[in-house]
Amino acid sequence: MGNCIFCKIVRGEIHSVIEFENDNILAFHDLNAQAPMHLLIIPKIHISTINDLQDIHKNILGEMIFAAKEIAKDKKIADSGYRLVFNCNDAGGQTVYHIHLHLLGGRMFKWPPG
Ligand code: 5GP
Ligand code: ZN
Repeated sequence: MGNCIFCKIVRGEIHSVIEFENDNILAFHDLNAQAPMHLLIIPKIHISTINDLQDIHKNILGEMIFAAKEIAKDKKIADSGYRLVFNCNDAGGQTVYHIHLHLLGGRMFKWPPG
């Protein structure tokens, strides 16, 4: 998608600090980190929202969550704990319409979220 900022990050047209990449997904640091560790894990293909997921996307979603688990282990936040979040649409707090899994760690989180 031409104007999508996360597609531009995938294409290397916008700089990002990349933590992990394979053929299907990319994990990079959030520009406006909300925790000592705040990564975004995205599919390389453009999917606007969680509402747009189809059967063919099931594997890639699994890959995203698995990557989050591996990164949390590598960053040594797995045992202390971390948070994985998908925001969907306006009321869910979504601002970038290319699905992304937030991986947040390195501090205590409250529940319920605001
Ligand atoms: P959302 O609110 O859609 O769930 O999260 C979007 C996230 O993308 C925000 O946490 C925001 O800081 C991050 N973000 C927006 N634009 C950029 C960018 O150009 N580069 C990076 N690395 N993160 C971005
Ligand atoms: Zn996109």
